[in-house]
Amino acid sequence: MNIVVCIKQVPGTTQVKINPETGTLIRDGVEAVVNPFDEYAIEEAIRIREKVGGVVKVVTMGPPQAENALRSAIAMGADEGYLITDRAFAGSDTWATSYTLSSGIKTLGQVDLIICGKQAIDGDTAQVGPGIAEMLNLPYVAWVRKVEEITATTIKVERLMEEGYDVVEMPLPGLMTVVKEINTPRMASLKGKMKAKSATINTINASALSVDADKLGLKGSPTQVLRSFVPERKSGGEKISGEVPAMIDKIYNTIYDLGVVK
Ligand SMILES: Cc1cc2nc3c(=O)[nH]c(=O)nc-3n(C[C@H](O)[C@H](O)[C@H](O)COP(=O)(O)OP(=O)(O)OC[C@H]3O[C@@H](n4cnc5c(N)ncnc54)[C@H](O)[C@@H]3O)c2cc1C
Repeated sequence: MNIVVCIKQVPGTTQVKINPETGTLIRDGVEAVVNPFDEYAIEEAIRIREKVGGVVKVVTMGPPQAENALRSAIAMGADEGYLITDRAFAGSDTWATSYTLSSGIKTLGQVDLIICGKQAIDGDTAQVGPGIAEMLNLPYVAWVRKVEEITATTIKVERLMEEGYDVVEMPLPGLMTVVKEINTPRMASLKGKMKAKSATINTINASALSVDADKLGLKGSPTQVLRSFVPERKSGGEKISGEVPAMIDKIYNTIYDLGVVK
C-alpha cells in the first residue's frame, strides 16, 4: 500500500504573537515543530504499513527549513520525504496550498491512501485535507478516530462525532484526516534518528509540477489576509436565566433590537 502523509511545520506554541505594525506572525525565536495532529497521521500510516506492507511517503509544502519536519517523520519510521518548496508558493492560502500539495502528490506515482492531521495548530482551518481530496477527485473522511479494517480497495473507519461516532466505509484510493484519539505517536528510536539524519529529502519545485502558475502562491489565492490581530478580551455582558421559552424570547428580542435579524 502506498501511503502519503501530509505534514506541516508549525511554531511550537499555541501562543502565536502578531506584529501589531505589519499584522504578520512573529516567527523569530519560536521553535518549529511537526504539527501535533500530523504526528498521529504519521503514526497511523506506519501502523497500516506494519499491518499490510507498503511505503509511507511524507510530504510537506513550506520553506527549505520544513525539511526538518520530514526528517522528524522519517525518524519515527516513515520511508521517504518530499519537500514541495518554491518562492512561487509563498503567500498561499488554503486553496492554493491544497492545489500545490495535490499537484505534488500527483508526481509520486500510485497513491492508495492519503492521511492528514485534523487541522494545523497555527492556521487552524482544517481545510487542506478536504481540499486535497477534492482536487484529486478522491473520496475522503474527516475526524477518523480508529481504522477498523483496511484492504487494497477499501478502508473502514470510525469517524468521531460530537456524540459518539459513525462507522464509515470508503473506497480506496481516498483521503482521511485523523484526530488525536486514533493512537499514541511513537518516539523516534536512535536507529530512526540516524536514518533520518542521512536520508535524502526529495525536493519538488514549481517547474516539476504540472500547474497553472496563476494558481500558485499569493497570486493564486482567492482569499487574502487584510489584517491579523489578537481579539480583545471582553468581559461583562448580560447573563440570561429563567425558563427556556422566556430566555429564547429575550435573546430573540435582543438580537432583533440590535438589527441582527429582521
Ligand atoms: C485567508 C487566508 C489567507 C492566508 N494567507 C497567507 C499568506 O499570505 N501567507 C502565508 O504564509 N500563509 C497564509 N495563510 C496560511 C496558509 O493558508 C495556511 O498555512 C495553509 O494553507 C494551511 O492551512 P492551515 O494551517 O489552516 O491547515 P489545515 O487545513 O488546518 O491543516 C490540515 C492538515 O492539512 C495538512 N497540511 C496543511 N498545510 C500543509 C502544508 N503546508 N504541507 C503539508 N501538509 C499540510 C496537514 O496534514 C494538516 O494537519 C492564509 C490562510 C488563510 C485562511
